[in-house]
Amino acid sequence: MIYLDSAASALPFEDAVTFSPEPGNPSSAHSAGYAANAVLEKTRSLLSAMFGGRSSEYHFCSGATEAANLIIQGRCHFLKMANSTRNEIIVSAIEHPAVFNTVKHMQQSGFIVHIVPVDHRGIIETSFIYDLLNEHTSMVLVMGVNNETGARQPIDDIAKKIKAIDPEISFICDGVQTLTKVSSPDLTYIDALIGSGHKLGAAMGVGFFYFNHRFRLSPLLFGGEQEAGVRPGTENIYGIESLYRALVHHQKNADQYHNHVRALSLLLQKTLEQSDISFSINTQDGETSGYILSICFNGIDASRAIKFLSQRGICVSKGSACSSVSPTPSRVLSAMKLSHTQMSSTLRVSFSPLNVKEDVLTFCAAMSELHSYNVETSALEQQSQM
Ligand code: PLP
Repeated sequence: MIYLDSAASALPFEDAVTFSPEPGNPSSAHSAGYAANAVLEKTRSLLSAMFGGRSSEYHFCSGATEAANLIIQGRCHFLKMANSTRNEIIVSAIEHPAVFNTVKHMQQSGFIVHIVPVDHRGIIETSFIYDLLNEHTSMVLVMGVNNETGARQPIDDIAKKIKAIDPEISFICDGVQTLTKVSSPDLTYIDALIGSGHKLGAAMGVGFFYFNHRFRLSPLLFGGEQEAGVRPGTENIYGIESLYRALVHHQKNADQYHNHVRALSLLLQKTLEQSDISFSINTQDGETSGYILSICFNGIDASRAIKFLSQRGICVSKGSACSSVSPTPSRVLSAMKLSHTQMSSTLRVSFSPLNVKEDVLTFCAAMSELHSYNVETSALEQQSQM
């Protein structure tokens, strides 16, 4: 299988998914419990060492979708219970559904939601944020790297500026496609950060979130005292050990991985340029993560291409895995004002450090085959119409 859909779920590091966890509940007061608890603590310490903040400010959950809900809904509940007059939320138009739909849901609790547009490169129009800020603004949410296009957002600048204008406004960043993939955001001005294990080579079913002392939130779930009471329930020790192991790979090999993935992305673009295929990169001229390429293949229907590639054992996608079955055009590409034809011809190719050159070359060869087939079919169609 040629797997080029790591933005949906990354190729896992082998040692991160092939180990037997030790028995023991991390909350138990015996040696097995202490050993399980040590897994939590070493992973929190590593998160803090790699991404900043204190280790006690990191918490574990099932994935980024749960993290986004705990953070956004938890903050809104807290503000409501405190009778705060801060009832406006500013969110970028290109957030993942985990964030976007959670924010929209908060409208039912009386929050006013402002959506910030992006330019043709998929980069947020920051001036809109600053114009919207006022004494009722509760939080601003901007992701670090977009999951459909790879477009990098200037989150450090935005967070810093917001805090200079009003330190009471919370800045929340979805770091799922950012952490380990591009330089880490500066937590000095970020109040809450969201991450997901399976996007960085760990097992599925584990996520994490950071929030600092400025960011108070009400729990959505009730139970034990695990994860400082914000996410009660026995922690997923297998998933957290898996996350630890994947993070160690990234920590040890960060530069090598970045260079390797960037080289694969360039190889793909060069190989396509040398072929007859007509294509364009949707984020042209924008700053991007090397891990994701959003490519418009002119004249090729993306759904057909995915089926064609899949029959040859090649996995790529149209956009976010969460909305891949939706017939409506991508909210992200629509926000970039791509035409309907461009959107329906767009494929997302996303890499892992475990991909090799042959994966890219096989994908390009299959696209050439599809292109030639398309050309032949349309020539035959034209002849039959004559
Ligand atoms: N945020 C971004 C940017 C994503 O790419 C994804 C998954 O595609 C999520 C959030 C949701 O992550 P999870 O699958 O861990 O819930």
